[in-house]
Amino acid sequence: MRTAIISDIHANLEALSAVLYDIESLNIDKVICLGDVIGYGPNPNECIQLISTKCPIILLGNHDAAVLDTLSTQNFNINAKRAIEWSTKQLTPDSKTFLENLPMIHVDEEKTYVHSTPYEPKMWYYITSVEEAAFNFQFFSTKFCFVGHTHIPIMISIDESQQINVSQENFLDYSNDGDTHYLINVGSVGQPRDRNPQASYGVLDSEAKTLTIRRIDYDIEKCQEKMRKHRLPEFLISRLADGK
Ligand code: ZN
Repeated sequence: MRTAIISDIHANLEALSAVLYDIESLNIDKVICLGDVIGYGPNPNECIQLISTKCPIILLGNHDAAVLDTLSTQNFNINAKRAIEWSTKQLTPDSKTFLENLPMIHVDEEKTYVHSTPYEPKMWYYITSVEEAAFNFQFFSTKFCFVGHTHIPIMISIDESQQINVSQENFLDYSNDGDTHYLINVGSVGQPRDRNPQASYGVLDSEAKTLTIRRIDYDIEKCQEKMRKHRLPEFLISRLADGK
């Protein structure tokens, strides 16, 4: 069984379409979305519609929560806030209903999925250090925990002797690792921030016991043009080409 894990689409229809095309070409069995379908980008309704037809499991992200007023935007920077205000005005009643029904966390046999952190998902904490990762390993018992939120792909593991290892490789073979547990960020589809502007997502193959982070080219300029047309903040437009 192969599962694609996508996150942080941020209303970037060009990036989402390119990633879904890649997923289809690989004959993936299931696509799971870790949230932040909207915010920042120009196509919130279109991305919601596409995601809802392709993903049986879609989780709530902080930007999705922000348009529903369940989260105050006081912790958002000025550009993110402006994009949220714009997105809120664009959303159709159907899109709002869809976002209102998204769960915070999903757990199956060997995987936990959550947008921010397994510890207190509703607080929207970020995992940006080894210490924060080490702390979060206490809050899931499955072999894998997949997160998004920082837009930076990374694989952090803890082995049987409690040794923590951090890897920024895009491939993992876990066929012979004993009782190692993993906290994995699959990166962002619609707004990568690891200085690689290509869309990022993960593929877990539970038979081959491998995990691959895939990077996909998409039409960045087309997305930027639409953002300019809608007068979204220039900082948000230019960062797509820089991947940061
Ligand atoms: Zn995000």
